[in-house]
Amino acid sequence: MSATAVSALRHDWTLTEVKALFALPFNDLLFQAQTVHRSYFDPNQVQVSTLLSIKTGACPEDCKYCSQSGHHNTGLDKAKLLEVQKVIQAAAEAKAIGSTRFCMGAAWKHPSVKDMPYVLEMVKGVKALGMETCMTLGTLSREQTQQLAEAGLDYYNHNLDTSPEYYGNIVTTRTYAERLQTLAYVREAGLKICSGGILGMGESLDDRAGLLIQLANLPEHPESVPINMLVKIQGTPLEHAEDVDPFDFIRTLAVARIMMPKSYVRLSAGREQMSDQMQALAFFAGANSIFYGERLLTTGNPGAQKDLELFARLGIKPEQRTDHADEVHQAAIEQALIEQKNSALFYDATAV
Ligand code: SF4
Repeated sequence: MSATAVSALRHDWTLTEVKALFALPFNDLLFQAQTVHRSYFDPNQVQVSTLLSIKTGACPEDCKYCSQSGHHNTGLDKAKLLEVQKVIQAAAEAKAIGSTRFCMGAAWKHPSVKDMPYVLEMVKGVKALGMETCMTLGTLSREQTQQLAEAGLDYYNHNLDTSPEYYGNIVTTRTYAERLQTLAYVREAGLKICSGGILGMGESLDDRAGLLIQLANLPEHPESVPINMLVKIQGTPLEHAEDVDPFDFIRTLAVARIMMPKSYVRLSAGREQMSDQMQALAFFAGANSIFYGERLLTTGNPGAQKDLELFARLGIKPEQRTDHADEVHQAAIEQALIEQKNSALFYDATAV
């Protein structure tokens, strides 16, 4: 299959085809993914988002990977819904270090009627800063998706996690069909979709392929596809899960890139455990979005400075928002890079 042939937007992927991509020699797969990537994106740009937990822990869902589930004893510090002003302040700080999208996550089964007005104020406040907004709040009704859209929400994150066949091994308090229903409401309201999954939960190759097929065969591809590496958290049922072969992780990014050529593929949770070399390979495979900042909801994430240093070593530039040309934003990135240049270990790939 030539790269040109697979770069068209398709919604009819079969398991046989996707498994054939996974079975390609590593270099052939990466070459194909990189070729597809270049037909839709600047290969040297990565979009950066910041994620904030706006309500932490005591979640009634039983997702086996999650530190925030009330079903597992992970010793997590719980926190009620943050005040609107604190959220807007955190977004302003994220913007100052170069983030263009601010994602707000709440550990809920679904947002309650009493919480919705606060959530809507958060969207309006962050939007007013000139940032893109994203939320993950659990299952939504049709009415709630419309309210969020009217408040100015850009993206809604709702992960499918894994294949429909394997889903019951990971979550029992909701169904795959409910997830798909929320995604349909999100689309109907005109919001962009952020949806992906997690590797390393004991799933098979068929499950990885099955997840990507579900995402790619939606009526429209999600604009953002986070591919997470399981972060094994003590106290969760998956704390002793087997490690994913790093090459299999990279293969999954590459296959996602080929199947959803116009989507941002996000190198998401688990980045703290990845070497710089593995992240560089991930960008080559077509990942072009990361979370930026110290925390990723409740797990660690490489510091923003470390990311900027890696970007500079690879000649990668953080993507700018074209609809909000913002000198302050650019200046913040440049200042951070200048500070990095004073470090003895700094190597500037853009200067050669
Ligand atoms: S992943 Fe989300 S829905 Fe599942 S337990 Fe964690 S916070 Fe709750």
